[in-house]
Amino acid sequence: MKRYYQPEIETASREEILKIQNEKIVKQVKYVYDNVPYYRNLMDQKGVSPDDIRSVDDIKKLPFLTKDDLREAYPYGLLGTDLKNCVRIHSTSGTTGKRVVAFYTQHDIDIWEDCCARAIVAAGGDDEDVCQVCYGYGLFTGGSGLHGGSHKVGCLTLPMSSGNTDRQIQFMMDMQATILCCTPSYAAFIGETLAEKGYKPEDNKLKAGIFGAEPWTEEMRAEIEKSLGIKAYDIYGLTETSGPGVAFECEAQKGMHINEDHFYAEVIDPDTGEVLPEGSKGELVFTSLDKEGFPLLRYRTKDICILSREKCSCGRTHVKMTKPLGRSDDMMIIRGVNVFPSQIETVLLKEGYTPNYQIVVDRKNNTDTFDIYVEFPKEMFSDKISEMQNREQDLKAAMRSMLGIGPKIHLVAPKTIQRSEGKAVRVIDKRKLHD
Ligand code: ADP
Ligand code: ZN
Repeated sequence: MKRYYQPEIETASREEILKIQNEKIVKQVKYVYDNVPYYRNLMDQKGVSPDDIRSVDDIKKLPFLTKDDLREAYPYGLLGTDLKNCVRIHSTSGTTGKRVVAFYTQHDIDIWEDCCARAIVAAGGDDEDVCQVCYGYGLFTGGSGLHGGSHKVGCLTLPMSSGNTDRQIQFMMDMQATILCCTPSYAAFIGETLAEKGYKPEDNKLKAGIFGAEPWTEEMRAEIEKSLGIKAYDIYGLTETSGPGVAFECEAQKGMHINEDHFYAEVIDPDTGEVLPEGSKGELVFTSLDKEGFPLLRYRTKDICILSREKCSCGRTHVKMTKPLGRSDDMMIIRGVNVFPSQIETVLLKEGYTPNYQIVVDRKNNTDTFDIYVEFPKEMFSDKISEMQNREQDLKAAMRSMLGIGPKIHLVAPKTIQRSEGKAVRVIDKRKLHD
């Protein structure tokens, strides 16, 4: 079995990687300056010229790009080449507002699919595998990215797209799928549905899953691995940089390797924009080193994570990022306390609940209200009201000790919270309606 899809680059020495990055950045900044007037203006305003960029160390001189810039420049303002050289458009899921569109040349698609192929091989995939892709196909990048990667690896690809869970399961069983690609929340739902249909984890042929596009906790990983009988690997990416595959997990399952020959990563202080030293927690910023269609420099992702260059047991040398601890705009401030949905998920799963929950925040009489609806597992059900109330109180206490603030807990019957086939909607913040 192959260990790496592109061994030379995936295990290149730090010096070799730096050399590649330094060569690419000089070319790329010139390319962007010459072809993207929107960014040329930002550089001119900041008094930086392409000649100032001689290596990746100089990247910090460049201006940032934010999602607001992308919205302002919509649709063509950040295009790097003639539309006639582009072969595809994708768009963000619009999780946090107006969608952003990105353009790809054939060269961009090739690089992107290579990145996804690296992820599949890292999860143990090769040409013997049957790879079931149930990320959405279409404008969303999840489906096409993993689909292309699966082809490159030579897997037998099942282009299922998301939804129609009964059909997913039928194909998974009949075609003996060995690798499953979808969002973690959908993987959990597939696991739950398999169990309902009477399948045990060992009844399927799956060995690995490649799950990403939304935050998920280690507790959720354990739950999915158990219900499907697989190893579950994380994959990260965003439309602005191409899609999934910017970073992926290896067999160590401890952080995701960023494909550094294509993307240069920085972590900054989200308030001051200052570049933070390795090992600090901050906002991830990406510079694409060789994209043509949508060549973003210093794009602020709003994803909060930590980078690490600790040696990895898999032999890959590329820098690793932790799972995003949440988006900076995912963070809720409730009665003055910072709360991330991932903290809530951790508590729920540790306390024996399922990953089916919804957080509702509102404001009444100038005070924030904070409610969590969570399904109790069947075995937990009691017809004694006092017992269910005690459970709610226990869960509230566990939340308070994690978050520093106690939500009102509502235990609801199994199957009452809507399941997601793509990115799960965990938070309903009604305060925004009143603002
Ligand atoms: P949108 O920003 O509208 O959701 P995308 O579909 O491009 O658009 O999603 C990219 C975002 O999804 C990332 O910026 C990140 O917040 C989230 N994401 C992607 N992969 C992961 C992952 N493995 N873990 C946590 N969050 C992820
Ligand atoms: Zn590794």
